[in-house]
Amino acid sequence: MSAQLIKGTDIREEILEELAKEVQDIKDKHGKVPGLVTILVGENPASQSYVSLKIKTAHRLGFNEVQDTQPDTISEEELLGLIDKYNKDESIHGILVQLPLPKHIDEKKVLNAIDPDKDVDGFHPVNVGRLMIGGNEVKFPPCTPAGIQEMIIRAGVETEGAEVVVVGRSNIVGKPIANMMVQKGKGANSTVTVVHTRTKDMESHCKRADILIVAAGVPGLVKPEWIKPGACVIDVGVNRVGEKPSKKDPNKMVPILRGDVDFDTAKDIAGYITPVPGGVGPMTITMLMRNTVRSLKYHLGIA
Ligand code: NAP
Repeated sequence: MSAQLIKGTDIREEILEELAKEVQDIKDKHGKVPGLVTILVGENPASQSYVSLKIKTAHRLGFNEVQDTQPDTISEEELLGLIDKYNKDESIHGILVQLPLPKHIDEKKVLNAIDPDKDVDGFHPVNVGRLMIGGNEVKFPPCTPAGIQEMIIRAGVETEGAEVVVVGRSNIVGKPIANMMVQKGKGANSTVTVVHTRTKDMESHCKRADILIVAAGVPGLVKPEWIKPGACVIDVGVNRVGEKPSKKDPNKMVPILRGDVDFDTAKDIAGYITPVPGGVGPMTITMLMRNTVRSLKYHLGIA
């Protein structure tokens, strides 16, 4: 393997340690801790496990963490009432609504009801607009793209003037990371191309990339010969390609995960590469915690 491995698991630990110190410092000086509420509707096992991971991380950092679990019979009006309650609650600085919501509830209406100054996921149209403007306007960058940019910065990859190619144009990964990399500032100032299913000759674009960010959700989409030697390859894709017995409990089956890039071949061509799992994945919750600390700092006027 010639590429340097960018491990999200290691960077997560670094950032969580920094955040824990910052939280303690704010507590000592201002007597306040970040407050994060996670609203979970229903009993979807995947949602339950995401929420418990978020709560566990918030707890580790010394946040005031609240898990608000509601039955899937909750009406849209009741859920909007709950959001209004947390919007007004001064001890809460971040509000998360775990998706998906039951079909009778309009997800967009619910997400748009969150106070943009407590929208630590960064999905509210006001925060999307702030991200587009860039610079000091940005309050809460969306968590997965923020994690990608942080990995690139911490790995020491040069972004200024770099050719960045983003595969995928979703609202949660492709479009925001493309927007972030083109801004003026640290870890940005790049020349960005976004490719998608309607792109002609995706290969020729990918081959030009100094930094290739792939978020398509198609295992092995990016072929090794599409990678420029020495490029930084960020593989956001998480695809279940089968099952295997768990190492902890061989009677239990766990999913086999693969990225959108053929890691085994790409690692010998790229200069930097993220693994799947253990790459971008661990960064998302970490950035959520960072946004919640930021929210408290804005609230205290110390950001
Ligand atoms: P998405 O909403 O399905 O968007 C996928 C994008 O990729 C679309 O813009 C699509 O193009 C493009 N695409 C799909 N197949 C393609 C192909 N054959 N050639 C070129 N472009 C193609 O997915 P997403 O939510 O952005 O997620 C992408 C992947 O990242 C998934 O595997 C997801 O699980 C993973 N993910 C990981 C994290 C994390 O690790 N924390 C977070 C979010 C997502 P069109 O627009 O033309 O259809």
